[in-house]
Amino acid sequence: EATAEVIDGKLVAKQIREEITAEVSRMKEAIGVIPGLAVILVGDRKDSATYVRNKKKACESVGIKSFEVNLPEDCTEQEVLKYVSDFNDDPSVHGILVQLPLPNHMNEQNILHAVSIEKDVDGFHPLNIGRLAMRGEEPLFVPCTPKGCIELLHRYNISIKGKRAVVIGRSNIVGTPAALLLQGEDATVSVVHSRTKDPEELTRQADIIISAVGKANMVKGSWIKPGAVIIDVGINSIEDASSPRGYRLVGDVCYEEASKIASAITPVPGGVGPMTIAMLLSNTLTAAKRTHNFQ
Ligand code: NDP
Repeated sequence: EATAEVIDGKLVAKQIREEITAEVSRMKEAIGVIPGLAVILVGDRKDSATYVRNKKKACESVGIKSFEVNLPEDCTEQEVLKYVSDFNDDPSVHGILVQLPLPNHMNEQNILHAVSIEKDVDGFHPLNIGRLAMRGEEPLFVPCTPKGCIELLHRYNISIKGKRAVVIGRSNIVGTPAALLLQGEDATVSVVHSRTKDPEELTRQADIIISAVGKANMVKGSWIKPGAVIIDVGINSIEDASSPRGYRLVGDVCYEEASKIASAITPVPGGVGPMTIAMLLSNTLTAAKRTHNFQ
């Protein structure tokens, strides 16, 4: 029988969106400014289009203005850079997001580099990542998914300081910033990746596990120390004949097994996923407040 507390990301994200809605309207009334988010989508990947649509809808739901540019797959890097530069100069845009992945013929780093760090609400500008990694420095923005993971720990009063944490995955957008954030909160952090020897043995030592791999049910019950807290970032679709769609979404962690051993766990879906967009909205509000010196 399950004993782990379910960390309800959907509920927390809803609370955060309500807080943001209140702040957006307070700002509008006080200084007449509406926070604005610009999203640049290149190509016609279905998943990217869905993410962009969801981000736009989320903006509307909290009163943030959204701007969208949709460029064809075969456009040039220069064209994308031109839009980035226009949004950098546009005072009604406070946050700029370039939906990844970009087509192969473009240099992703060139484009992420071009986003003004004051408007880098995804937190992917190398300067923001660099500051995240440095003691005594503060990034202007932290990447949304790992920020959402930490926010869940905070809102469930799970202490991080002095804990042993394992992050599985080392991508620029999730694993690495998650590890940096945990370290910044005084956890002792190990990072597990595809070349790690005996990941199970290492993971079993963790009080806190953040998994961001993209492999269904990779983390078994035997990987988990009794009482550990599990944040499962993975989103994997697996065949499921009993579902009307023929598939369902699961995380990286074998939920059935883990929920009997862990003290708290995020479900998939309904865990980290909804937090990512909530953090994007929060970063956009922060950008607008900072620009207008509004507290
Ligand atoms: P990447 O594919 O960029 O990174 C995956 C990481 O997992 C890599 O660092 C890789 O190691 C590591 N890895 C791969 N196989 C293994 C293995 N067998 N054992 C240990 N580590 C392994 O993925 P992302 O970071 O972009 O995303 C990870 C997951 O999170 C995906 O399922 C994605 O869908 C989901 N996601 C969810 C979001 C949300 O909002 N909830 C947002 C973003 C992502 P190496 O570096 O050695 O290759």
